[in-house]
Amino acid sequence: MNSIERSDFSTIGIWRDDMKVDQEEVKAFVTEKGRKYVIDNVITRCPTNALSLNDDDTLAVDNRNCVRCMHCINVMTKALSPGDDKGVTVLIGGKRTLKIGDLMGTVIVPFMKLDTEDDYERLKEIAGNTIDFFAENALEHERTGEMIERIGLVNFLEGVGLDVDPNMVSEPRRSSYVRIDNWDEEAQKWTDRKAEEARIAA
Ligand code: SF4
Repeated sequence: MNSIERSDFSTIGIWRDDMKVDQEEVKAFVTEKGRKYVIDNVITRCPTNALSLNDDDTLAVDNRNCVRCMHCINVMTKALSPGDDKGVTVLIGGKRTLKIGDLMGTVIVPFMKLDTEDDYERLKEIAGNTIDFFAENALEHERTGEMIERIGLVNFLEGVGLDVDPNMVSEPRRSSYVRIDNWDEEAQKWTDRKAEEARIAA
């Protein structure tokens, strides 16, 4: 959370497959703590209502709506754990007050693997492009987030060579960043890119 609020360029560990659930450990946790405790401290504290306690004390997880906040996993440490397909989300532009008020980071890379040397090189390339763009375009005493506010996210993404993706998020679950000018063309580009990625992965 700190990095989203403060860092110009933050990387957050994430997984994209399903959360792992040990239902026997869930039952043991419910037996030890009681249903009320589990409902008050785990189920109702999920920010996206992605959890439900079943009648038999097992846990149902709506993985599509889980935003990977880690709350339930931090409370039920034996029963729940992240999935296996891990990587990072890259956010840009978080900052405390300076020229304008506080800004949260915007998701510019929803998910990337960070396993191989090539993956790290790609991350360094994005960071390097961002620094170069900042050096050429930022005003004096401006932070990255402020520069993006001033010039527009589309211009920033084009400047650093990142394709617009509907999974980019400026405010989680409120305003996913979707480019709507030339919609059909942009949608086709995204579809083509995904098909090409699938072809390479096959
Ligand atoms: S990780 Fe967060 S969003 Fe996902 S199910 Fe748990 S509490 Fe809900």
